[in-house]
Amino acid sequence: MDCLFCKIVAGDIPARKLYEDEHVVAFHDISPAAPVHFLVIPKKHINTLNDLTEDDKALAGHILFTAQRLALEQGCEAGFRVAMNCNPQGGQTVYHIHMHVLGQRQMQWPPG
Ligand code: 5GP
Ligand code: ZN
Repeated sequence: MDCLFCKIVAGDIPARKLYEDEHVVAFHDISPAAPVHFLVIPKKHINTLNDLTEDDKALAGHILFTAQRLALEQGCEAGFRVAMNCNPQGGQTVYHIHMHVLGQRQMQWPPG
């Protein structure tokens, strides 16, 4: 499958990895939108948030918990933002689900 993030999972494309376990990988975003900006992705290919199933509930929780733990490790005790973009109107550009974690600057609301 021609998926950029599957290639990062496989090690075929390099990434600055922060964390990896059996189910997820976290790596720094190539085009950071904040001093801390990393992505947490499942190793399993899932196109969009709409493709999550009941069977993925534990995986989705694991992605969120990993985001929280790594955000704190990256010094984001003062706060951070998590975001998952879904489909074109949601701003998704890479079709393998990923949780953005942004921190170390003041976030604004609403996002653009
Ligand atoms: P989306 O727009 O789909 O929510 O987010 C995709 C993110 O992946 C963007 O923030 C983009 O900068 C990041 N990205 C795209 N290609 C690469 C890559 O090859 N390596 C890394 N580390 N990040 C990437
Ligand atoms: Zn993929």
